[in-house]
Amino acid sequence: MILVDAGRHDYVSEDNMPFLHSLSQEGTYVRRLSTIHGYAERSSVFTSRPPQEYGYFGNFHRSNKGPFTWLRFASFSGTSNAFKPIRMAISMISKYISGYHFTNVHAVPIKYLHLFDLGEDQAPLYAKGRYNKIKSLFDILIENGKTFEYFDCLESPFQRYLLKKDVLVLMEKKLNRKRDFYYTQLVELDNMGHKLGPSSKEFKEIVQAADKRLKRLITKFYSRFPKGTVILFADHGMTDVKKGINIAKLLPPMSAKTSDTYSYFIDSTSIRVWCTDKARTDKIKNTFLKIKEGKLLTVEDRRRYGLDLPKEHVGDLLFWLEEGSVFFPDFYHPTRLIKGMHGYLEGNDMDGFMIIIGKDIKKKTIEKGHLADLLPTVINLMGLRTNEKMAGKSVN
Ligand SMILES: [Zn+2]
Repeated sequence: MILVDAGRHDYVSEDNMPFLHSLSQEGTYVRRLSTIHGYAERSSVFTSRPPQEYGYFGNFHRSNKGPFTWLRFASFSGTSNAFKPIRMAISMISKYISGYHFTNVHAVPIKYLHLFDLGEDQAPLYAKGRYNKIKSLFDILIENGKTFEYFDCLESPFQRYLLKKDVLVLMEKKLNRKRDFYYTQLVELDNMGHKLGPSSKEFKEIVQAADKRLKRLITKFYSRFPKGTVILFADHGMTDVKKGINIAKLLPPMSAKTSDTYSYFIDSTSIRVWCTDKARTDKIKNTFLKIKEGKLLTVEDRRRYGLDLPKEHVGDLLFWLEEGSVFFPDFYHPTRLIKGMHGYLEGNDMDGFMIIIGKDIKKKTIEKGHLADLLPTVINLMGLRTNEKMAGKSVN
């Protein structure tokens, strides 16, 4: 199973990705795979559930007990590029203290870090019992006595910094260890799509290069396992950024003194505000209502989008931008307006795709599927047994 991160549905064409396009004609091809809402797509892939069921929708949520509490007396933001080594050191110390899987601090102002805890990054997504009562693909594989290899990146920040190796090439070596199931992912289309914008000429070359790299890995896989099945999928798409909105400038400033009564977190396409003061909440609501590029989500909206989560996660106010706009600066991109973004609630560019090839795979094209269909599809293809409830259905 290979995740092509941010592989928008229309990249699968003779011009952009000729190899993937040829595969799409050979097996089962889901032309458009709609994504979930929020930023934890892989958690939905592995559980076939919306965020409100596994309990988070992004990286950070409000909490006084996260891995960064040791920084509560820090008084500086440190979001400029000069602070990169310090942010990396903070990530490593926090990982050591908390025992979390990843503790990347991104560009969250250092003085605010102690207000937040991590969700998806706490433990590896393949860890046994990772989603509490919900059984994931990996729990189901273990229950069925199957072995697996999960490889998405080098796990230590040091290794990642020094080696900068191609994950797909490293994955080739892992195929020498015989397993029933392999998972890996290609992240360049996401990284470079953000940086260059999906419509740019330079990005097109990166898409074409990714197609060649996938061809190399899949060819290697079939030389080792001629009867094997390959599922390629993209968890979401990407759209061009047209406008950056400086939201911090429009809101009352956050400070250490008031953090118990007022705080916020700026994701790229949404912002959450925690505020106990009614007058201030009303004022902020009015500020949001004036931003026509997005909307304040009602309780109804949140439920509909699968984001009916506790306050620590969704805030007292949750405002979401429409396709094409981003908050800038946000807590991920402090210095440069990025050119591509995903994570919108609606939009044509948000869909990914799914391609399944293999000996017994039916040749057919399905116009529309959903990210939640992946897990039931894998279960069906591998003949696994489970009673777990799922939001999607097998496409094969
Ligand atoms: Zn991304």
